[in-house]
Amino acid sequence: VKEKGRDSIEFFNEEMADKVSRQLVMEGDLHRALDEYQFKLHYQPKIDVMTGFVVGAEALLRWEHPTKGTISPIDFIPVLETSGMIIDVGQWVLEESCKTLERWNEMGLWREGTRLSINISPRQFRRNAFVDDVVQTLNKHKIPANSLDMEITEGIVIQRVDEAITTMTVLSEYGISFSLDDFGTGYSSISYLKRLPVSTLKIDKGFVRDIIDDRNDRVLVETIITMGRLLDMELVAEGVEQTDQLKILQQFGCHYYQGYLSSPAVSIENFEEILMADAKK
Ligand code: C2E
Ligand code: CA
Ligand code: CA
Ligand code: CA
Repeated sequence: VKEKGRDSIEFFNEEMADKVSRQLVMEGDLHRALDEYQFKLHYQPKIDVMTGFVVGAEALLRWEHPTKGTISPIDFIPVLETSGMIIDVGQWVLEESCKTLERWNEMGLWREGTRLSINISPRQFRRNAFVDDVVQTLNKHKIPANSLDMEITEGIVIQRVDEAITTMTVLSEYGISFSLDDFGTGYSSISYLKRLPVSTLKIDKGFVRDIIDDRNDRVLVETIITMGRLLDMELVAEGVEQTDQLKILQQFGCHYYQGYLSSPAVSIENFEEILMADAKK
């Protein structure tokens, strides 16, 4: 027993050391990634549930690693968060999104009133200079603040609620809107809803996935939509892959959706083709 215990401790240590070293390798790679332009943004359309028109897009980060291929944000965002690099990468995402909006404005592709959403990480949001950086970046590219939407999660709000509300209020006054991402997965979303200047709820794709077969998920989605509508919020369903899921969302009164049914996140060139096709409809 003793022997086995010691082995498992050593095994545990080895595994931890392994994890730490992998993390360090990735951190080094991520440092280079920013300098060597390995990050890219892809864009996923947000679609009007009733008309099928594109009403906006979400920018999603992609890392094209020189030897490992494309790495999913699920695997590297946590490393960016813990190392603090998310601040630089987040600023890059903002800058790149503004460049994209500038380009689409010049091409006449971006209708007024449509918004590009970017994901904001808690650490990035809590920085003192965040508001100034955002305003400066918008000005630099002559982007009206009302073409930008920020997707945040409860994690941003949970600590220091009042500070978060202040930051959001200032940015809202400029014209930036806020969406609460992954809604329904946290603990206390509902208690924040009335206090936060959030205009949109994004229903997590975990609920949408089983909306046809799982009665509980269906009831939950209907409840979120009903509640959101009563609070004058807009609702976006994530992860819609099938026509039958869309039909249910239509019945429930959901406003917009994202998902493979319409399109995955695609390169800027491919997204421009989507916008052009949409304009011809
Ligand atoms: P998220 O914000 O919840 O983004 C939605 C994820 O669902 C994206 O994964 C998207 O590609 C994926 N998705 C879209 N449609 C479907 C569908 O029909 N079915 C399924 N199964 N999935 C779908 P992605 O691009 O891998 O991003 C993962 C997460 O990484 C995001 O989740 C977000 O939390 C984070 N992330 C991505 N880009 C950024 C960024 O620029 N900044 C920060 N801070 N986080 C980011
Ligand atoms: Ca998001
Ligand atoms: Ca989400
Ligand atoms: Ca998520």
